[in-house]
Amino acid sequence: MKLFCPEPSCRAENLPTADICARCGLPLKAYAQTLDYAARLFNRGLDLVQQHQLEQARECFAALVYWYPHDREARNALAMTCLMLNDLISATEHWQKVHEQAPSDSIANQGLALTTSWQKGPHLMNVLPESMPAQSGKGTRVVIVKKKRKKK
Ligand SMILES: [Zn+2]
Repeated sequence: MKLFCPEPSCRAENLPTADICARCGLPLKAYAQTLDYAARLFNRGLDLVQQHQLEQARECFAALVYWYPHDREARNALAMTCLMLNDLISATEHWQKVHEQAPSDSIANQGLALTTSWQKGPHLMNVLPESMPAQSGKGTRVVIVKKKRKKK
């Protein structure tokens, strides 16, 4: 895992074990720990989705998005979980935020297309992360979460 300096004017690549940024001297140790924690929280959210503990999964992803508002992967996962909980309004809001940050984000664009079609009239679809077992039945399978994050 590479560690990029969080200072926006620097963004230098550092070793994951670095105490300070080699370019600007910013302390990195605590930052690396929060990243590690964030990865674990994200993976915990995915596990909870698989166990159909959707409310708890949403809390994991919501915490990540609160701390890392530009974490598109976490926000996409949060939006997907909201959708699975039939919270169309929150799902749409989060996908719109992702779309504002990155108009080419294909997951957000798929999600927005989906929520728009649902607002016209809900119909049966399998909205599942790829890691979940595919269910039989008709409908579009939307792949939101591709893989777990790597831990250090
Ligand atoms: Zn730096």
